[in-house]
Amino acid sequence: MPELPEVEVTRRGIADPLRGARVLGARLGKPLRWPLGRAAPSLAGGTVGDIVRRGKYLWLPLQYGADDDGGLLLHLGMSGSLALLHAAPPPGPHDHFDLVTDRGTLRLNDPRRFGAVVWSASLHEAPAAALLRRLGAEPFDPAFTPQVFHAALQRRRAPVKAVLLGGDVVVGAGNIYACEALFQAGIHPALRADRISRPRAARLLAALRGTLARALDLGGSTLRDFTDVHGVGGAFQSEAAVYGRAGAACGRCGGTVRRVVQAQRSTYFCPSCQRR
Ligand SMILES: [Zn+2]
Repeated sequence: MPELPEVEVTRRGIADPLRGARVLGARLGKPLRWPLGRAAPSLAGGTVGDIVRRGKYLWLPLQYGADDDGGLLLHLGMSGSLALLHAAPPPGPHDHFDLVTDRGTLRLNDPRRFGAVVWSASLHEAPAAALLRRLGAEPFDPAFTPQVFHAALQRRRAPVKAVLLGGDVVVGAGNIYACEALFQAGIHPALRADRISRPRAARLLAALRGTLARALDLGGSTLRDFTDVHGVGGAFQSEAAVYGRAGAACGRCGGTVRRVVQAQRSTYFCPSCQRR
């Protein structure tokens, strides 16, 4: 599943080439998770603005020079990837959205079709606002300080791992990144969020930022073609300290990495390095 680093790597790959591009047309394939909300051909004539990311959503602003400005909110779902194609071949069976521009065709390939492309007049109006409403803070937002993070954790009684995965305190802590950040911070994944001290919350936020930054570095350095977004998690996993390493020796203490299931997701941790 594309996580925040994959989406951010995608954004970095398409934002510069598409800034200022002129939309020549658009095409929908099979239905995605939510309807587009306007006729695809009517997107023609727009100019692409600065593509931004919020959580795992990308916002592609479109300016029409009239009171018709808005944009497309894109989500890669479980299996989606975006490619900017300079000579687009005819769409294949899993290509469900094309935005044809004078700089190439932005194509969404999504075999499982949990992804979405939704028209919205702005990020702050329906339907975009409703989709983004429950998202937690951006992990690299300077306003999201250790104090703010700690205060948010204080309001939660669930295990810290579940709170991280929920994404409503902070976005971006997908399973692999949550496991690794908790290991780096020395925090047991089952510890109740409201029992985490302020210094430990600060360590956890720093660890989460570190793991995500490393994944972004790997995405930027190992992916010649940003369309292979699933390669980011794979490259990161190859150097993970605990994720996917049940039964292996902990690189820090020599103990055994364990796997448990929390909220239907696998959690990997070192029982001696990670304390309640
Ligand atoms: Zn250990």
